Amino acid sequence: MKNNKLLMIPGPIEFEPEVLRAMSLKTSSHVAPDFIEIFGNSLELMRTIWKSPTGQPFIVTGTGTLAMDMAAANLIEQDDKVLVISTGYFGKRFNDIMDRYGAKTTILEAPVGEIVSLKTIENELQNKQYKALTITHVDTSTGVRVDPKPIAKLAQKYNCLSILDGVCSVAGEEIRQDEWGLDMVLTGSQKAIGVPPGLALLMASEKAMQTWKNRKTPVGSYYADWSNWFTIMKAYEERRPSYFGTPPVNLIVALETSLKIILKEGMDMRVERHCKLAEAFRTGLAKMGLKFLPDSAANSANTLTAAYYPDGIDGSALLSKLSHKDVVVAGGLLSELKTSYFRVGHMGSVSPNDLIAVLGALERTLLELGHDIEAGKSIAAFQHELLRSN
Ligand SMILES: *Cc1c(COP(=O)(O)O)cnc(C)c1O
Repeated sequence: MKNNKLLMIPGPIEFEPEVLRAMSLKTSSHVAPDFIEIFGNSLELMRTIWKSPTGQPFIVTGTGTLAMDMAAANLIEQDDKVLVISTGYFGKRFNDIMDRYGAKTTILEAPVGEIVSLKTIENELQNKQYKALTITHVDTSTGVRVDPKPIAKLAQKYNCLSILDGVCSVAGEEIRQDEWGLDMVLTGSQKAIGVPPGLALLMASEKAMQTWKNRKTPVGSYYADWSNWFTIMKAYEERRPSYFGTPPVNLIVALETSLKIILKEGMDMRVERHCKLAEAFRTGLAKMGLKFLPDSAANSANTLTAAYYPDGIDGSALLSKLSHKDVVVAGGLLSELKTSYFRVGHMGSVSPNDLIAVLGALERTLLELGHDIEAGKSIAAFQHELLRSN
């Protein structure tokens, strides 16, 4: 027994060994020339991954939630109208954050597994002059993916900022920030970016930066205020030493390593790999009789899958048996359905071998729990689908 559990949750994910080795290098000064170069280069590499040559990147210690908080704190002022497009748990979180900064929010909530129609969004934008709208690209609670492109276009049409929660999508799903006209695309390090938890990563458009500069009132959070961070990011990009809050040196060394790995594969190839693996994996799961939360393939994320437990199967027994077989997946997150579904992350370094391990362990677990399936069928379906798509 290798005692090496395969971590297949939607973040933290399995990290590349090279990234973990980078974490363990001796911590240098945050103003050492070598580290300044690494920080500056990471900011530049982010622009390539976000496809935002004109964007302003931010790398700040914190989680994905801090990235959401920063977007709200800097772009929103008291009584600004914000439209929240929600496909699950993280849409509601954005609504709570916007509320906290004094926004007047309207939330459009899709039923579980569905998306909000463009018609509904446009009606709402015609109705009121919104300052900003938020989109959850992939809601990690439901595995639902929204197409941000037409929504960003609507936002432009109605002169409204578009903010994309890309915590479960950046570096896994297709994003073209500049081309699509998204004003803010944010993420956390531990998901498809492939770095241990602890970094909030944001990319602001020129319009977003202008909106922040034109504020009438100061930013309500001292730590999140771009007045503090913008000069730091600028300094690192210009390879000058500077200080506001001590950067997490080891995490940023790991970030540069991961961003280089991502760009070595190339974003287009990477998105295609995520897509093919996700489709083959779901073909395998369907062979075990599993049903998914998203209502269609088009609305399904490539970075994770949310599936209902089969009828009569005890979810906690399934998760614990899987873990004993060294495969760790996540339970449900939506409070109303928490015990009726589970989630499997497949982003970042994910390979066909990882997913075959998950399908194999899941088949054995379901058979042990008395579910009527035939061993090997899901793996065969996975293999056929992958061979067909490659
Ligand atoms: C994980 C996640 C978050 C929150 O990120 P944390 O790093 O846990 O704070 C926000 N939005 C989405 C879509 C996520 O998947």
